[in-house]
Amino acid sequence: MFLILFGAPGSGKGTQSDLLMQTGKFVHISTGDLLRAEVKQESKIGLLVRDIMARGEFPSDDLIMDLINKQIDTNSDKQIICDGFPRTMNQVLAFDTLLGVKKENIGLVANLKVNLNMLVERISGRYSCKECGAVYHDKNKRPLIEGICDRCGSKEFLRRPDDQPDVLESRVQAYLDQTQAVCEYYRQKGLVKDLDASKDPVSVNNELKSCLIQAGFKI
Ligand code: AMP
Repeated sequence: MFLILFGAPGSGKGTQSDLLMQTGKFVHISTGDLLRAEVKQESKIGLLVRDIMARGEFPSDDLIMDLINKQIDTNSDKQIICDGFPRTMNQVLAFDTLLGVKKENIGLVANLKVNLNMLVERISGRYSCKECGAVYHDKNKRPLIEGICDRCGSKEFLRRPDDQPDVLESRVQAYLDQTQAVCEYYRQKGLVKDLDASKDPVSVNNELKSCLIQAGFKI
């Protein structure tokens, strides 16, 4: 069964995924993470998508579906968190077909709602460990020991090129133009729960877990 985590860049999809992963009951698929891994490896896909991502635009739906297909094949029969996917109506329709073939279903679409000012503040302060990808924030979440990653001890950090303020605007626009239609599609099917994601991450997670239990997930 699939949980789709939905929300603008900076709404906390990654943080909520991390908290759910601590239950040991989920597999996490983030198309953004998969694409960033390709860019890091400088693979054929990575070279193709690097500049597109840096501008805050979307790579082709076919490329995204190839990545998703591979992930679903290796994780069948699990509770899967989709973080950042599907993001366009073409992806939704291709995903519906895939779910039909695999006899799988979407149990819940959690819509993480945050106002624009908070999104900008969250994203503009965000940075991560170069080695393990653990995410930090200039104000809200610094490492316990300054300059050293809590998770892996690395001293090297980086900021995502698409987290720069000028690119953020295109990312939020892409979200508004393409991704909100996706949410409305699932809303019509009765799958969407709206969550106030401006609250602290643990409160949001508790609310999310209640919704998941109601939807039949095992936590
Ligand atoms: P994220 O980490 O989810 O914020 O994604 C970062 C960037 O990766 C996005 O701005 C897009 O360029 C690309 N991306 C991630 N997931 C998708 C998707 N499902 N469809 C199209 N582009 C995606």
